[in-house]
Amino acid sequence: METHLADSIRDTDRGREAERILRACVHCGFCNATCPTYQVRGDELDGPRGRIYLIKQVLEGAEPSRATQRHLDRCLTCLNCMTTCPSGVDYRHLVDIGRSEVEKRVGRGPLERIERLLLRTVLPYRRRFAVALGLGRWFRPLLPGRLADKIPAVLSQPGTWPPARHDRRMLLPTGCVQGVLTPNVDAAAARLLDGLGITLERVPDGCCGALDHHLGAEETARERARRNIDVWWPRIQSGAEGILITASGCGVHVRDYGHLLRDDPDYGDKAAALMDKIRDPCEVIDAAAVERLGLNAGERAVAFHPPCTLQHGMRLRERTEAALRAAGFRLLPVKDSHLCCGSAGTYALLQPALSTELKYRKLRALEEDKPEVIATANVGCQTHLAPEARVPVVHWVELLDQLSAR
Ligand code: SF4
Ligand code: SF4
Repeated sequence: METHLADSIRDTDRGREAERILRACVHCGFCNATCPTYQVRGDELDGPRGRIYLIKQVLEGAEPSRATQRHLDRCLTCLNCMTTCPSGVDYRHLVDIGRSEVEKRVGRGPLERIERLLLRTVLPYRRRFAVALGLGRWFRPLLPGRLADKIPAVLSQPGTWPPARHDRRMLLPTGCVQGVLTPNVDAAAARLLDGLGITLERVPDGCCGALDHHLGAEETARERARRNIDVWWPRIQSGAEGILITASGCGVHVRDYGHLLRDDPDYGDKAAALMDKIRDPCEVIDAAAVERLGLNAGERAVAFHPPCTLQHGMRLRERTEAALRAAGFRLLPVKDSHLCCGSAGTYALLQPALSTELKYRKLRALEEDKPEVIATANVGCQTHLAPEARVPVVHWVELLDQLSAR
């Protein structure tokens, strides 16, 4: 696509990056076919091609409006469009640039600013989140329905952590709200890795920064990345073989630290080097590992929901499914499994109507063949789908762990 960026941005790093991405787009529109928000709204400007065009106009000097901002806000950042695009357009980094330009020029009203500040003040801090969740559950009967519905349920209790007894070690970040909502997931991963001869070592890091990044607080996101690198780097240097991230929503963001800190003279190289050390559970507990563990599910019927962050963000398709099949689960076919469930970080809170519509579509598809259980790989999807699902929604490592405990 031909571009003529405005003088104010053309010769900046962001301008050059945006120009490179925009020029790769041939405006074919194939991406619209797999965009969940385009499917629901049927509006070109709520699909990737339209959003790319809006961003191009803004970067070329057009004045963005509240409408421009709303079309970009409605994007789930599910990255389905990147999987579909035949030209390899890096929509992910373009939409970041577009959103930040629009944010600077359009701003937000007071209510939106407070809502976003509250989310950024509570969600990335595990203790604050635990207190807020406890209070929310306590006062739930007094809250208006719309707010009460947003209080997530705690979906598991913390499980036993195996003793550190192996030379092989991997690190487990502990700063995520996952530890509050589904505390058994990390413990289940630790028990499975223990069976594979790997000690999972909990490290005192903080939130990965994905939430700040998606809410436009770029510098806070970078600061969180630097702090986590300070925790991980010496441990990797002393022999830990990788960093296991059990929530794919965090995994996809952490794998982008190299891009986030690419201009940082102190952290850029470390961030890039650490990217090879990030592991999703499906890269460690793969089909071969499951066979070594000798698990047998006896044909239990499972519907698997691959989070967008896993299948589109990290491009780790079919690995989890292969591990579940190796354990003897019968994986049911799920229509449109490439589509987002509507969770998407804080999207469910900020875009409730679209998010709810996508959730019901996803649940209909997942439950069509009557699974005994729904499995997924991200705490956001799990807590989003669980309240209205007819069967339990679990993280897939918990399913495997239940077998190994038999
Ligand atoms: S992003 Fe890719 S699929 Fe979408 S319009 Fe551009 S070139 Fe076509
Ligand atoms: S990231 Fe998802 S919602 Fe956003 S434009 Fe791409 S396909 Fe549509």
